[in-house]
Amino acid sequence: MTQHLDEGVLYALLDDELSPVEEQRARAHIASCRECSASFQATGASSTLLSGGLRLLDVPRSAKPFVTPAAVAASPRWSGAALARAAALLLMIGGAASAAVPGSPLHSWLEDQRAGSEPGMATTTVAAPEPAPLAVTPAAEAGAGVAPEQGVLRISVSGAQPGLSVRVVLTDTPRGGVYALGADSSVRFETAPGALAVADAGMTPLRIEVPRSASDVSVTINGRRYITKDGEELLLENGTRGGEVTFEVAE
Ligand SMILES: [Zn+2]
Repeated sequence: MTQHLDEGVLYALLDDELSPVEEQRARAHIASCRECSASFQATGASSTLLSGGLRLLDVPRSAKPFVTPAAVAASPRWSGAALARAAALLLMIGGAASAAVPGSPLHSWLEDQRAGSEPGMATTTVAAPEPAPLAVTPAAEAGAGVAPEQGVLRISVSGAQPGLSVRVVLTDTPRGGVYALGADSSVRFETAPGALAVADAGMTPLRIEVPRSASDVSVTINGRRYITKDGEELLLENGTRGGEVTFEVAE
């Protein structure tokens, strides 16, 4: 066979629509003909990019999709099977996918196609899968509460790094407490009547709650007393006062 394969044959080959004899002949030609081999790869790549184009519709206008979904849907050529095969082909070509679609939802689409088994879905159902969720660490909070003992509440924090952010608030609850904001916190808490000790505070921001009902309160960090309660207010060592005080641990 000296004639080059036409586009229709290439697509038919992609779609498994050739008879065994035709397919063998086409593959033999592709194997021996550089030009047709390149066309065949381009054919597979373009059909994959079409499916990529579907997803790119969500992308800002500057990133133009290759083709409208309507155009894809209108063409019976893009069966799900063909797209899946094209994707597999593109994987074999290697690297082409990420080069063609930087950033690339296509990559995960390819993974999906490779993992999923059966083709046969209609073109119109080749919808963009949900983007993989970002790894979001939930805001977690560790802490401990304690009630004042006869109006006395002693809170002491150790192992705090300079610059650690501390917020102290007056609450209407009968119990006070210390809460470390952050999931990766290794902060430890210990309570005794009227007292709460926090160890290994590190750099995990702390929220400290002080009941209004407590009359004698101290918050000590790394051995230094930062907060007392003066009447109805919290009093920071530098003279700041109020129902809520925020400061950073000193050097
Ligand atoms: Zn050829």
